[in-house]
Amino acid sequence: MFCQKTIVSKITYPLFLLRHGRQGTFRHLRALRKLDFSRQAAIDIQARQDRLLTNILNYAFDHSSWNRQRFIDAGIKRVDLQSPLVLQSLPIVTRAELRENMDEILSDEIPRAKMLSSKTGGSTMEPLMFYRDGNVLDYRMAFELLLNEAAGWCIGESWVNYWGHLDDIPSEEVMRKIKYTIANGLSRRMIPFNATFVEDEKLAELASVIRRKRPTWMFGYPRAIGAFARFIIRESIELPPVRGVLVTAEPTTPEDHEAIEKCFGVRALDRYASRELGMVSQECSAHCGLHIMTDNVHVEFLDHEQGKVESDSIKRIVATDLHNRAMPLIRYETDDVASPLSFPDVDCGCRFSGMPLMTSVGGRITDMFIRRDGTWFTGLDVPGMRMAETGWVNQIQYIQTGIDEVTVRIVRGEKFTDEVMPYLQKEVDDVFVSSVRLTPEFVDRIEKTKSGKFMYSIQKTPEEEIRRVTGAPAPRSTPTSN
Ligand SMILES: [Zn+2]
Repeated sequence: MFCQKTIVSKITYPLFLLRHGRQGTFRHLRALRKLDFSRQAAIDIQARQDRLLTNILNYAFDHSSWNRQRFIDAGIKRVDLQSPLVLQSLPIVTRAELRENMDEILSDEIPRAKMLSSKTGGSTMEPLMFYRDGNVLDYRMAFELLLNEAAGWCIGESWVNYWGHLDDIPSEEVMRKIKYTIANGLSRRMIPFNATFVEDEKLAELASVIRRKRPTWMFGYPRAIGAFARFIIRESIELPPVRGVLVTAEPTTPEDHEAIEKCFGVRALDRYASRELGMVSQECSAHCGLHIMTDNVHVEFLDHEQGKVESDSIKRIVATDLHNRAMPLIRYETDDVASPLSFPDVDCGCRFSGMPLMTSVGGRITDMFIRRDGTWFTGLDVPGMRMAETGWVNQIQYIQTGIDEVTVRIVRGEKFTDEVMPYLQKEVDDVFVSSVRLTPEFVDRIEKTKSGKFMYSIQKTPEEEIRRVTGAPAPRSTPTSN
């Protein structure tokens, strides 16, 4: 086993990346490993970010005509771009603006054919095409490997990717499947598992794969890993130990944390990353917050506009990408919310101890839902966060209109199939613990609330029905930060 790990990390994985033109990944990884991210290096960390920030601002001024006009409109001259403070004079960029002005945002220096495109997901957001150059892709992959290392995984070890449908895995043609299996075994060593599977037999299948392949690391959606952990506990299945569990893309409930810790013997770490920005922040084992990766991205925490505050403690995350020259992304409204945290009194002592801290990310507002037995549960318990990743839906929103009555608003994704509604029906029945009348409503888009937030779940059950099952009025909305 040790031998395979060494061969993969030293020989076959580098060759695999070379074959795919991604050999820059290990070069970036070596450079990143040499950087000092500790608390003692705080001044250097800041200086490094200031330098990267002024570099990208200057590049955007010279090569992105739409950004140049933004600078000029804000009264900023090229000479002013030597100071990182100038950033605060710029207006915020929204997705809608990006979509409308893409041609003028993209660099005039990098040929379009050399840019790599990717589409963003997110259950509550409209998808958007993003562009990057190859070097940025290498850098981001290197950063991801660095953070995976920090979370307990080493290159060459097998790991479970608990995610939605993974596009690059062939499922039909035998030769392609064999080729994929060999290439995967010699490179990423990923054990993919579709997080939309909820049936016991599928979970048992994964358990036996884990027992056979002994992965060192679990990665994926906290709700899915939490559900798997509960299954393992319920069935008293013995699993080999893992070194780490990393969760991302949706909030982790206390119940999921508890089940994961009980099942795997480690507390899950949280990561905030996105297609458009790459790695933004990650929790360390001291659990003092998520360390912001200031070498990759510049993060600002801004107040909500006057009169639009959902909660005083939650700020909007506005981000500037420090590397992507193909599509300079400066003061980008992420539509996510979180709060900055101060350093703990005692140095957490992790590799990233000098990187500033933030809370876990929210971004959606959820109403509570009610079951026929009168118990309440968070709207996050109904599936959806994962739906956009599968390409099934572009946006989704649940509205409870009565006891055992739910409307689901769906903006269809490019992979929407007949399987989606039966899947949703089963998941909704499971969390409501009854047979729910689920009514789909297919729409072109789902609007934000007046406060600029997406409502993931809305409670509209008439008050008298709620009183009938509980004898008490409905609780208010809860922002899903932390
Ligand atoms: Zn730390």
